[in-house]
Amino acid sequence: MKRQCIKVPKKIGEPVRRILLELEMLDNSVKISGDEMFLYLPLTREPAPEELSSFPEGIELNECDFELQEKKPVPEDLLGFSPAYEIIGDIALLEDPDLDAQKASRIADALLRTQPNVRTVLKPLTPVIGEFRVREFEVVAGEPRTETIHREYGCRYKVDLARAYFTPRLSTERSRILSWVKEGDVVVDMFAGVGPYSILIAKSKKHSKVLAIDKNPDAVHYLMENIILNSVKNIEAIEGDAREVARKFAGTADHVIMNLPHNAFEFLDSAVLLTKPGGIIHYYGITPENDLFESSIEHIRAAAEKAGRKIEVLDKRVVRSYAPHQYNVCIEARII
Ligand code: SAM
Repeated sequence: MKRQCIKVPKKIGEPVRRILLELEMLDNSVKISGDEMFLYLPLTREPAPEELSSFPEGIELNECDFELQEKKPVPEDLLGFSPAYEIIGDIALLEDPDLDAQKASRIADALLRTQPNVRTVLKPLTPVIGEFRVREFEVVAGEPRTETIHREYGCRYKVDLARAYFTPRLSTERSRILSWVKEGDVVVDMFAGVGPYSILIAKSKKHSKVLAIDKNPDAVHYLMENIILNSVKNIEAIEGDAREVARKFAGTADHVIMNLPHNAFEFLDSAVLLTKPGGIIHYYGITPENDLFESSIEHIRAAAEKAGRKIEVLDKRVVRSYAPHQYNVCIEARII
């Protein structure tokens, strides 16, 4: 493949490659070539005279044959650095909250060009906030939308990220909770969102019954769509406050999932009320590194004792780091 290129002495090859990346002029469709003395850096276009002046001395414009690049380019090839992003369905979320508009747009462009499944690039404008745990977004590039369908463990989750909470980062956690559930168990997902715990459990344990509760009407709208999308029959979706719903289902649950880590402790009375004798609460919290589990266990114990019951701690673990010195933890406690 003939390409215009820059012939550069090897010892200054890397800085020149970086300048070409900055100028979005390095042709990633072919392989960079070289000999003993020189590198040949293929170009997507002819450099303007003022661009040439930004290169160190010793380079030469040339034309050479190049081999086609087999490896698919990654964003770093175009940008010269690895951008922080997360993929949800066909949406890429930029993770650096301090990106200026120009850098965000360069990263978005690189993502759209190198990740064939990405159709939209979003930048969060706020952290996850409020009772419904949602974020506001700006569409940086691509199709102007915040709705997508994410695939995980053979399930599909439709979600509008600006209207309901969803993160793929808890996927391992969801399969871990699934491993606690036996066929025929009754599971109450007190803070179900669009259903990633509930649907995975219902789909994998066809003889179980899942009650999925959420207060956010938009989350419940998607939860209902996802129940249909995944053809699961053994879920009941309820829009409402988990405390109120718990009163109607007292003493029914083999498992209660409490995935509202900032506030779960406020709902422990209801979780205990829901749990059958011998049932298990899966409690999530955000805790400091010097008290990862003890205070949370004491909250669970106090709620159980208030109801004349006891607890047995079955497991406790760090799920992920949440902020400096703060961790997202999970505790499994049997309520006897
Ligand atoms: N479990 C889901 C997941 O993993 O994607 C959602 C978790 S999100 C951290 C917490 C959810 O709790 C949100 O969808 C929010 O709307 C819901 N929520 C907050 N307060 C609630 C309440 N009092 N009763 C029921 N749901 C509530």
